[in-house]
Amino acid sequence: MIRPVETVAALATFPLADMSAPPGKRVIGLAQNESAFPPSPRAIKAARAALERPTTYPDPGWHSLRHAIGGAYGLNPDLILCSAGSMDLIGALILAYVGPGDRLLSTAHGYGYFRTSALRAGAEYDAVPEPDLTVSVDLLLDAVRAGTRLVAVANPGNPTGTRIPRSAMVHLRDHLPDDVILLVDEAYAEFTDDLDEPVFDLVGRGNTVVTRSFSKAYALAGQRIGWGLFPPALAEQAVKLLTPGGVTQASLAAAEAAVQDRDYLAWLIRATTAIRETFSGGLTRIGLSPIPSHTNFVLVPFESEETAASAREALLTEAVIVRPMGAYGLPHCLRITVGPAEDMDLTLQILTDWKASPK
Ligand SMILES: *Cc1c(COP(=O)(O)O)cnc(C)c1O
Repeated sequence: MIRPVETVAALATFPLADMSAPPGKRVIGLAQNESAFPPSPRAIKAARAALERPTTYPDPGWHSLRHAIGGAYGLNPDLILCSAGSMDLIGALILAYVGPGDRLLSTAHGYGYFRTSALRAGAEYDAVPEPDLTVSVDLLLDAVRAGTRLVAVANPGNPTGTRIPRSAMVHLRDHLPDDVILLVDEAYAEFTDDLDEPVFDLVGRGNTVVTRSFSKAYALAGQRIGWGLFPPALAEQAVKLLTPGGVTQASLAAAEAAVQDRDYLAWLIRATTAIRETFSGGLTRIGLSPIPSHTNFVLVPFESEETAASAREALLTEAVIVRPMGAYGLPHCLRITVGPAEDMDLTLQILTDWKASPK
């Protein structure tokens, strides 16, 4: 028998959403937090133009995109790394700094890829409870122990949709040992940027990394592109673990145009937020208690695991696919992505009928 590396053999495949639905119906996919709207028309045009020059490899240093991101966010382009989705940057950072015998610390309902990345690296994974489905930085600080090399939090959180205020994030960084890396995964942060609480400045301390994505508010999930702000020493190591030239030319072009189209981004966020609030209001009216969200999805608790499964079945019958939350320690919840308004109206209607019918 040909034997795989032990840590790999012990690893479960990362659980992506099950998108299967009854045949013959239009599938309404609300399980992967994809955008309700298309990307900026300028991004589509730029990606098309990039396909016209297919013979060259993409720029492995992502120069043009890094400068565009730096311009849009007021950051030093030299500190920016790009990759085929921010998951790759998260994985590379963890692989570079958390090894066998080390520990990665996160939270009970933290992003699943933190755990996968830790186990893949042969490290241990620790998680602290999230009272009220919100990250408690004090519980994180209490749980740091010998061997803890990296603390990972998503802000806003997935699947909770709740957020950690800047003051708490600064408190966390202030009280973590200097040699423990803080990874702040900001895949949904564009939805909260209007609160004006960026934490990019923490990267200047040399031990904090902030990652962002083009998959969510920029609507480019299909292009697989993300970025992160790294201290130079950490960037030097993480970059070794990225696939060289792994971001396609079309993705680079699309992302560059998207990040420069600030008006479209602002519009998309307003439009998505409006649909989310209407949908959440509807859920509340039928007696459910959606968790107030800072993202393009809503976490909806039900009475029990069985009730959540029953609601999911009802939705699935109409080919509406939402995400069960057992893998995130919330089996009584469903996570529902904010899709186009008509799809959310249908989803609400199905849940309304389901609520009214005896189970
Ligand atoms: C979607 C998501 C990501 C992945 O982003 P990609 O850039 O598509 O790899 C990272 N973190 C969280 C919390 C997410 O929900």
